[in-house]
Amino acid sequence: PQSSLQYKRVMLKISGEALQGGMGFGIDPKVLHSVAREVAAASLHGVQIAIVVGGGNYFRGVNAWDGLERATADYVGMLATCMNAICLQSALEQVGVPTRVQTAIEMREIAEPYIRRRAIRHLERGRVVIFGGGTGNPFFTTDTAAALRAAEIDAEAFFKATKVDGVYDCDPVTNPDAKLHRRLSFREVMVQNLKVMDETAITLCKENNIPVVVFNLSTPGNIIRALTGDPDIGTTVD
Ligand code: UDP
Repeated sequence: PQSSLQYKRVMLKISGEALQGGMGFGIDPKVLHSVAREVAAASLHGVQIAIVVGGGNYFRGVNAWDGLERATADYVGMLATCMNAICLQSALEQVGVPTRVQTAIEMREIAEPYIRRRAIRHLERGRVVIFGGGTGNPFFTTDTAAALRAAEIDAEAFFKATKVDGVYDCDPVTNPDAKLHRRLSFREVMVQNLKVMDETAITLCKENNIPVVVFNLSTPGNIIRALTGDPDIGTTVD
């Protein structure tokens, strides 16, 4: 399938909730290993893959208790993403994919610090690079971190792997008739205020001409399908 893969370098954003799978908290090993297998297959076919992991399966700054400062809570959230990053690294290395973790907040005993040119070099050498710690700044999200890193490494596409099938015209949980959008322009997303990701993240992708593909991580094969440019997977925003 090598020739049918559309992209040479992509950003894969995996939300903490998606990693949580069927568990109430933390990581579902089944999800972790299936992600690792798909990323391994893509990497073997020569696609350069950078990954940003969320941390919502452990902690979200906005959900912290009264009295915990927002900035502090956000730093806890950033640390949570690092736990996911090293677990994902371990799963990838178990299936034979050389992997590096780079964190936006230094923790040299467990990962490299984020160094853009070094990240690109790892990718060129066929290593999957996982970015932990978000942007390293409170008041941002890991979607924004992924958009920022995608622009920095010149990724051709932003894959947002979540636990929903894509972007709907209204909330599919409360409206059984909700319609899934297959393709949207950045303008439509902004004008209609559609919830693809936060505005900072979507603006960064728009300004840097990085198409966003939203799809369900729990559907087996979806990462590979996204890489083939399959128009029937989730929602594409470009
Ligand atoms: N976070 C942050 N700055 C960043 C990225 C993340 O402060 O650049 C914090 C924020 O508190 C966020 C948490 O880390 O709630 C976990 O990230 P996120 O909610 O984006 O994870 P996801 O929803 O993808 O699981």
